[in-house]
Amino acid sequence: MVHPIDPFPTITLPRHIQSIIHRFDNAGYEVYCVGGCVRDLLRGVVPHDWDMCTSARPEEVLALFPDIPCKETGIRFGTVTVLLDHNPVEITTYRQDVAYDDHRRPRTVSFSATLLDDCRRRDFTVNAIAYHPDRGIVDYFDGMGDLQSKTLRCVGDPNQRFSEDALRILRALRFSSTLGFTVEEETASALRDCAPQLSYVSKERIHSEFQKLLCGQSAAVILSAFLDVISVFLPISSSSVFEKEERRAFYACDSYITRLFVFLYFCAAQEEYAWDSLLSALPFPSKTVEGIQRLRSLMQDPPPQERISMRYLLSRVSANDASDYLTVFHALHPKADTAFTTAYQLYRDVLAEGDVISVSALAVNGNDLQQIGLRGKQIGQMLLHLLSLVMEEKVPNHTDALLSIVITKNDKKG
Ligand code: ATP
Ligand code: MG
Repeated sequence: MVHPIDPFPTITLPRHIQSIIHRFDNAGYEVYCVGGCVRDLLRGVVPHDWDMCTSARPEEVLALFPDIPCKETGIRFGTVTVLLDHNPVEITTYRQDVAYDDHRRPRTVSFSATLLDDCRRRDFTVNAIAYHPDRGIVDYFDGMGDLQSKTLRCVGDPNQRFSEDALRILRALRFSSTLGFTVEEETASALRDCAPQLSYVSKERIHSEFQKLLCGQSAAVILSAFLDVISVFLPISSSSVFEKEERRAFYACDSYITRLFVFLYFCAAQEEYAWDSLLSALPFPSKTVEGIQRLRSLMQDPPPQERISMRYLLSRVSANDASDYLTVFHALHPKADTAFTTAYQLYRDVLAEGDVISVSALAVNGNDLQQIGLRGKQIGQMLLHLLSLVMEEKVPNHTDALLSIVITKNDKKG
């Protein structure tokens, strides 16, 4: 495939990949970089992992690297992982996948002699481009054209490809979201038709793809266009909308947790029980569930407008949680811009100026209180009382001032 104006960057391979290629070349085997790494190199992005494919059989691959640690975990499917200078590189023998089980995994894989067969079994055209430094790019399915027009398209018949392996449905949405690509029409329609087959995919895999999808640059566009597909694995209320206003709110957030919150917020249609069923539909880690619950409870109140209340907030939750809360508040209430700006300024001031917001920053500690006669629970309670006084500026954070309060209080009791 010739491209009249070449918009693609020149490919330079890291040294460890070049040295792997040399070994195959010298032994007379074919070898190519393939998949996500080639796609990313052509987009000018540094690949985060490396996949290669070869005409050599797995045992021949192993024989090429007697001096280097290799993992044989994927060997049944033809994959050997070579650990060169601690960099894992997956090297897979050219293969054809036949006879899929359960809409998910090939029952048998058969090794093949050709790169064409190997590219044909790959999911999307942009993931099926191969590269060798001497032989250049091999692009059987015009992945370069699709990269240029930012299109996500199945290799082959999309209905067949999604039926073989339903995980590809979510991979399609994930790649469109992270790459900012449009799902090609036939691919999109097949993806919808095959969506019920997602029930064959493990919840863990769905969760991991969904998380990547949410973090992508085009996540909101994909969510709103494919809400019907998402509803196969998340119990989204049928009255949910994810249109212009919702998309704006979503994009105002950039972390996973804030985006997830905003998405669930619109899908739960603010019904109490809906949150629980959404959060239990996928194996969200407890850290995520707790983060979402903290945000929900923080969202019950408007953001602090005074320094003292901001100190109280930051004494209760981490700076990160408070920042997420302010972000989400602003995303969902864009008209309350002044309230947000005020709160955000206070947030920065309290942290930058080192206001006392925790017992550990007080000028007295538990030992000091013990020495003047306080015991057990009294100590913790007194420290919290002192913290309140300092946060409310009723007393300076000086040892003498704090101790005299403790002594006076103790004397009164005594
Ligand atoms: P990334 O690593 O950035 O998530 P990737 O494209 O490298 O994206 P991997 O899961 O690392 O994705 O897989 C490497 C390659 O293997 C893909 O580019 C694709 O060619 C092929 N592949 C992976 N999973 C499938 C699948 N379920 N069906 C068909 N081909 C697949
Ligand atoms: Mg990869």
